[in-house]
Amino acid sequence: MTLRDLPGLTMTALQELLRSRAVSPREVITALHERIEGIEPKIGAYLSLDLQSALSAADAADVNLPLGGIPIAVKDTISVRGQPLTCASNILRNHRALYDATAVVRLKAAGAIPFGKTNMDEFAMGSSTENSSVKPTRNPWDLERVPGGSSGGSAAAVAAGAAIGSLGSDTGGSIRQPAALCGVVGLKPSYGRVSRYGLVAFASSLDQIGPLTKSVQDAALLLQVTAGVDPQDSTSLDEPVPDYLSRLESDLHGVRIGLPKEYFRAGIDPEVKAALATAGAHFESLGAELVEVSLPHTDYAIDAYYIIATAEASANLARFDGVRYGSRAENPANLLDHYGRTREQGFGPEVKRRIILGTYVLSSGYYDAFYLRAQKVRTLIRRDFARVFENVDALISPTTPEPAFKIGERSADPLRMYLADIFTNAANLAGICGISIPCGFAENASAKPLPIGLQILCPALGETRLLQIAHAYEQATDWHRRRPTLTS
Ligand code: GLN
Repeated sequence: MTLRDLPGLTMTALQELLRSRAVSPREVITALHERIEGIEPKIGAYLSLDLQSALSAADAADVNLPLGGIPIAVKDTISVRGQPLTCASNILRNHRALYDATAVVRLKAAGAIPFGKTNMDEFAMGSSTENSSVKPTRNPWDLERVPGGSSGGSAAAVAAGAAIGSLGSDTGGSIRQPAALCGVVGLKPSYGRVSRYGLVAFASSLDQIGPLTKSVQDAALLLQVTAGVDPQDSTSLDEPVPDYLSRLESDLHGVRIGLPKEYFRAGIDPEVKAALATAGAHFESLGAELVEVSLPHTDYAIDAYYIIATAEASANLARFDGVRYGSRAENPANLLDHYGRTREQGFGPEVKRRIILGTYVLSSGYYDAFYLRAQKVRTLIRRDFARVFENVDALISPTTPEPAFKIGERSADPLRMYLADIFTNAANLAGICGISIPCGFAENASAKPLPIGLQILCPALGETRLLQIAHAYEQATDWHRRRPTLTS
């Protein structure tokens, strides 16, 4: 073990080295910074780094705290006081956070050091990180391919050993989908489990902050620290936070796992399908029982999601008007010209598309036909899950229908891009929790092996069971130990 190896470690492994004083927090930050400097020209995972504050925090770190001295990369839609907060958007290019998000307050209180803001699709709208107004991020397994999105910078940094662990946000799949495409662990907590205070709102009834890490144990550790009620977020749940970590080990005998038949239809890449079949057999060998189940309203999830998410986004993004927030257009002729040009120049094409769609579905005459109907579908989807969870403890599916696609391949076709969330966005509509963990590699799609993600879903507040199932699978396999070689 040399200092150069530190950035590739899990949080848990690093914690041990820090506590035994084998390494110091300053050495960790320095080694991570060197790794980032070396690798960033290839992957472009970060939007900003503040080495000086990280080093001062390292010098003051108490390694006996739960995350003492461990650097965490933070998606650039989550506020870290004094650091840039741009959401990868032109309109916020000069904005700095005035306060810490609650998740960040809790990270810091646990001794972690927020180090680096990661690239993302602008305002978290996208599935490839190509919608960043700054730069695309590249998939460390194949630099010609996307890392997924919208938390693509977080996923790529963790996969490439350019972050120890990271926080992302998931509105329709933005933690799980990039985790799958980059071969790391990504956890979307139940709605309300982690406070959204200080997370720039995209679709407030769907957004959740969650971890992207190299192991399930690390995801449990980050959830442990960040979860819990917060007076600053009235939608945060006032429920006790279980001790996820000490309950991680468990026996899967008697656990019932559902395979939603609607998630295994045509359109799934054959290698993804095969990896899922192998994973299913693996769960059986661990003692779990597999049962086929049905989520009959699955076909409507994407439509409902893109109506509800855009409607909420159109309202949430109204504040970026150059007066309350955002950079302004120069020399406006009058107020309307000010708003018009500020938003025209400040937002990229996908964000504009969403604001227009969202305004349309909320407008008088269309509200009932689109928005209200989508809310009714949301209820049906919620009931689908409630019904199956009466009979099974968890559901498994592929996280995405296909492994990582090529940069540029889908940017001209927004509908095709939206399909990347087909297995993930129902969980946000229903408010349940989900995780993506590595479950194999596709060898045929590219000259390089591309990671495949397994999604596990559990009922709302079922994170303990979710993490147990994911951990049991991870312990019995070694997909998560493979790392990209990063040759182009
Ligand atoms: N890809 C989805 C979208 O573009 C989900 C994004 C997210 O979860 N933030 O809306």
